[in-house]
Amino acid sequence: MTPETEKPQAELANLSGMVAAFVGLGNMGGPMAANLARAGLQLRAFDPSPAARDKAAAAGCIPCDSLADALMGAGIVLTMLPAGAQARLVYLGNEGSGEDGVLGLCAADALLVDCSTIDVASARAIHAAAAARGLAMLDAPVSGGVGGAIAGTLTFMAGGSEAAFHRAKPVLARMGRNIFHAGGAGNGQAAKIANNMLLGVSMIGTCEAFNLAEKLGLDAETFFAISSVSSGQNWSMTSYCPAPGPVPAAPSNRDYQPGFTAAMMLKDLRLAAEAAAQSHAATPLGAQALALYALMEAAGEDGLDFSGVMKLINGKL
Ligand code: NAD
Repeated sequence: MTPETEKPQAELANLSGMVAAFVGLGNMGGPMAANLARAGLQLRAFDPSPAARDKAAAAGCIPCDSLADALMGAGIVLTMLPAGAQARLVYLGNEGSGEDGVLGLCAADALLVDCSTIDVASARAIHAAAAARGLAMLDAPVSGGVGGAIAGTLTFMAGGSEAAFHRAKPVLARMGRNIFHAGGAGNGQAAKIANNMLLGVSMIGTCEAFNLAEKLGLDAETFFAISSVSSGQNWSMTSYCPAPGPVPAAPSNRDYQPGFTAAMMLKDLRLAAEAAAQSHAATPLGAQALALYALMEAAGEDGLDFSGVMKLINGKL
């Protein structure tokens, strides 16, 4: 499958004046909303944190004091929330207090796009509730981190109908470079957690290989030169090498300051384990990766970059 790749500015659709709501203006959502405002959208931005709203206002968004206010006149609603619990609350509302969520408050023809990384079951439950109200929806989690959110070079993996995907694509193209339609409801989340489980496993395997090589008398540079053009080659090695030295931009060269934290990797591995249990998929290495990142959490070191699992492997944690 070929993604929608970055287009020259002139080929991007003119979105000037389109009214959009953006909910969840944290490390990722803040810069994503800012990129949409920069593209000319009337970006109505909501987050319970006043500091996040102020930052969004400084970036050209219209700060809103409530979810209902943010949704006023919005043809597209984007969310970037921590996890499934917050996504359920924001979309479905709070049964206890009777407070409505996006589904009860948005316009009947609004398109809903949840960019958060959440569990597949919550994503599919929200999709089903949206469909029951006749609302078009995508789950569209991202890869690329805060750097990608700022630069507008994220990868989006979207689940939902073809029609919803084609409506959302011009907007997603203002925040990302590679935009995939992964299939039906929840398939975006499925792609994201399967990819990140593979990333966690490959990172740990790469750490083990560099540690073994060192114990056997090979320095990191020599092992990298050989393995990066041999069959052990993988992204965790060539773009993000967990041994200091061979890849200058990698977090290993700044004592594993993130980057992508071990805590975030652990969140994604837990989502993968949950989905594996529900779908009866065997993921023995994913389970091992989860156990190792949980040890980093127990050691209070989950604020390190996820490549910092090297310290656990080489006994330096
Ligand atoms: P964050 O904690 O910085 O931001 C989340 C924001 O959501 C916060 O500003 C919070 O105030 C807001 N929020 C919480 N509850 C809310 C509610 N009920 N209504 C409105 N807003 C609410 O997190 P982040 O790093 O921006 O990550 C967001 C999502 O993106 C997560 O699902 C994460 O897994 C995913 N993600 C993060 C990265 C990364 O590198 N940070 C990379 C890829 C994907």
